Amino acid sequence: MSLLVVGSIAFDSIQTPFDKVENALGGSSTYISLAASYFTSPIHLVGVVGEDFSNEHIQMLEEHNIDLEGLQIIPGGKTFRWGGKYHYDLNVRDTLFTELNVFENFNPEIPPKSRKASYVMLGNIQPDLQLHVLGQLENPKFVVTDTMNLWIETAHEDLLKVLRKTDVLIINDSEARLLTNEPNLIKAAGEIQKLGPKYLIIKKGEHGALLFGVDSIFSAPAYPLEDINDPTGAGDSFAGGFIGYLHSTRDLEFENLKRAVIYGSALASFAVEKFGTKGIEDLTKLQIHDRFIEFRELSRFDEK
Ligand code: AMP
Repeated sequence: MSLLVVGSIAFDSIQTPFDKVENALGGSSTYISLAASYFTSPIHLVGVVGEDFSNEHIQMLEEHNIDLEGLQIIPGGKTFRWGGKYHYDLNVRDTLFTELNVFENFNPEIPPKSRKASYVMLGNIQPDLQLHVLGQLENPKFVVTDTMNLWIETAHEDLLKVLRKTDVLIINDSEARLLTNEPNLIKAAGEIQKLGPKYLIIKKGEHGALLFGVDSIFSAPAYPLEDINDPTGAGDSFAGGFIGYLHSTRDLEFENLKRAVIYGSALASFAVEKFGTKGIEDLTKLQIHDRFIEFRELSRFDEK
């Protein structure tokens, strides 16, 4: 009953209105695995890096009980690099550059021992690669998928195939609208659930997230942080906290999915406090639990 995570591993150069950083550790599978590591282990990470990926990074991931047998290190290659710039409205960002490097020919090979994984987190990569991952697994029980506007627009057919095999799709509000051509999020959610996913999570940036079940909706608040330093990876940290908690509890009832959404929101709130993955490298279980309780208090009220 292990947890498999597949996605990008990157060095990110990020500018915000307040600060900037170059070559910070990032990538979807990095954020997801680190966030999930606070709940469960081992996590089997499948990704690709170049020779420039330092031993320090490998050690840090291993210290989080992340199994790196599926990490491909390409001799002479360079790790994927991404640059982004945030506006004063931190929900808005421009991609400054994308250097695919070794990511361009990424062929996710799942090591034999990880093919039995029952929980799978498909980070944001091309849908045909997500399908290739699923095709190698013996009997995945619970598949959570992330995607982005690029794939909705350019790889629609493959994405639809992935969705048919997906239990939970995690996307943001604009992606949900783009995928369905439906401006109303509640209607869009219904349309997406018809495509395969039993559950859907729509993230709304600093306004929290909505979880759609079979016939119920749960609304999670966002944590009112005063110091947001780098929104990069918030969505991936959310996904990691979400699937990590579910994997640790082995309970896929809607009530437990609600808790998982709050743990995901807690991990996202830590991630944005620092640049790159720094915000989720050195947390304690107590810190995470305290924030979970704070989330509960945020929207709790009595009838009278
Ligand atoms: P998020 O802020 O959750 O959208 O995730 C940001 C992470 O996605 C960064 O660490 C980037 O390195 C990574 N990323 C950016 N563009 C891509 C892409 N085209 N494919 C995969 N990962 C990407």
